[in-house]
Amino acid sequence: MRSIEHVIAGYTGDATGRTGDVWDPNTGQVQARVVLGTAADLDRAVAAAQAAQPGWAATNPQRRARVMFRFKELVEAEMDSLAHTLSSEHGKVIADAKGDIQRGLDVIEFACGIPHVLKGKYTYGAGPGIDVYSMRMPLGIGAGITPFNFPGMIPMWMFGVAIACGNAFILKPSERDPSVPVRLAELMVEAGAPEGILQVVHGDKEMVDAILDHPAIAAVSFVGSSDIAHHVYRRGVEAGKRVQAMGGAKNHGIVMPDADLDQVVADLAGAAFGSAGERCMALPVVVPVGDRTADALREKLIPAIEALRVGVSTDPEAHYGPVVNAAHKARVEQWIQTGVDEGAELVVDGRGFQLQGHEKGFFIGPSLFDRVTPDMASYKEEIFGPVLQIVRAPDFEAAVALPSRHQYGNGVAIFTRNGHAAREFAARVEVGMVGINVPIPVPVAYHSFGGWKRSAFGDVNQHGTEGVRFWTKVKTVTQRWPDGSADGSRGSEDGGPSRIQDAFVIPTMS
Ligand code: NAD
Repeated sequence: MRSIEHVIAGYTGDATGRTGDVWDPNTGQVQARVVLGTAADLDRAVAAAQAAQPGWAATNPQRRARVMFRFKELVEAEMDSLAHTLSSEHGKVIADAKGDIQRGLDVIEFACGIPHVLKGKYTYGAGPGIDVYSMRMPLGIGAGITPFNFPGMIPMWMFGVAIACGNAFILKPSERDPSVPVRLAELMVEAGAPEGILQVVHGDKEMVDAILDHPAIAAVSFVGSSDIAHHVYRRGVEAGKRVQAMGGAKNHGIVMPDADLDQVVADLAGAAFGSAGERCMALPVVVPVGDRTADALREKLIPAIEALRVGVSTDPEAHYGPVVNAAHKARVEQWIQTGVDEGAELVVDGRGFQLQGHEKGFFIGPSLFDRVTPDMASYKEEIFGPVLQIVRAPDFEAAVALPSRHQYGNGVAIFTRNGHAAREFAARVEVGMVGINVPIPVPVAYHSFGGWKRSAFGDVNQHGTEGVRFWTKVKTVTQRWPDGSADGSRGSEDGGPSRIQDAFVIPTMS
């Protein structure tokens, strides 16, 4: 059985500790075991990070950027094998697995521009002979705790920016699909980052809590489900750290009566069911405005959903593959039952789906509910599976209210040909990322990613210049140099020691 180890500089691991199973969701078999680390493992990683970080921070930003350029080349050269590994542990189809890695590389490309982005601010002559400048300094050691559903992209969101800014970074990836993060850390060393700058520690709650409590870790970035995000936020802040913690989602797609329904159906097929619905920017709730729109949409959706091909993740024709593990499959199917029990109309039932030759795989067929209402638990909570719910809204106001009042506020989309309606919607909806005729509005790497309400705790988004803000702290210097030294006339006589006392006078800015 393959064993997946930590990547800790100068340490090869302790084979006696706890381990977790890493499944192949296509076959339902355990394919590897991952070590589940302890606080002692974390201490080793922190010590290596402390040894490496000052030198890395002192390396000029252009040289740090060159490591990012090289890292990008190495990841691109390994794209096929990384995507296969990712797909075999997660279950998403190869095209999605490549997208997962490419979206992370987009952030690495942003990090290649770090010398420009990190340039400080300077005010010449803020007072008589006084200049003020602000610099963004690295925090020291940062940590990232990431979910199973984007094992390539989300680690790169975090470490790409953190490392380029001069920090050392310790990644605690999901224990369900840890192999790609391990390979990324190895490639970072190959790209020229000193050992200790990007390390990987595996584990579960024990390791997460050790990270949150560790006094030498200055900042923690978390992405996962909301209850854990809230725990991470509270405990990390209590320990005096900077914390950003992204949580779950329940994204709505509003369909106005004037929308192009064929386009909406094509978009929903990908956005609701792609990656088996295991995306925080999936679109699992569709809100047609008016019963005529709802009936027309439903009529077109049913055959489109029934035509979706569920297959092994290496099947190039498959729309989506299995969900991540047996427990998650059972949970999604339980939510479908809850929806039925609550009185929603199950129009297409994906339960009981079996793929011939892969009967033990964690496959679920696509499901469609109609007449879901806001009081239902299956509407309020995240299902995170291939299940689309229709919630009918009588008018535009009701449609804006649904996502705005929902506990989650990650992403939302509106489908319409009416620019005024779209503009009003974008301005008023209480959600962090909005798509207008774009079903999955994930911002590009040089903008930033973050939801509202229970989809994100903390106030700084992932990547882009927001990421740079998160991974750096500002130092502002107010400086005054003694008068008369410009022509050198007093420099050696009295411009030195006799004027040093001036430096202790608090300057006035008038
Ligand atoms: P998860 O919350 O189960 O796990 C996330 C991380 O937390 C993992 O590294 C895991 O080891 C750790 N963890 C698990 N239980 C813990 C505990 N009790 N205490 C401390 N740490 C713990 O999430 P997941 O199932 O891996 O990922 C799916 C979730 O992530 C969904 O809710 C999805 O919406 C969300 N997500 C959000 C975003 C976003 O940007 N908002 C992006 C991707 C995924």
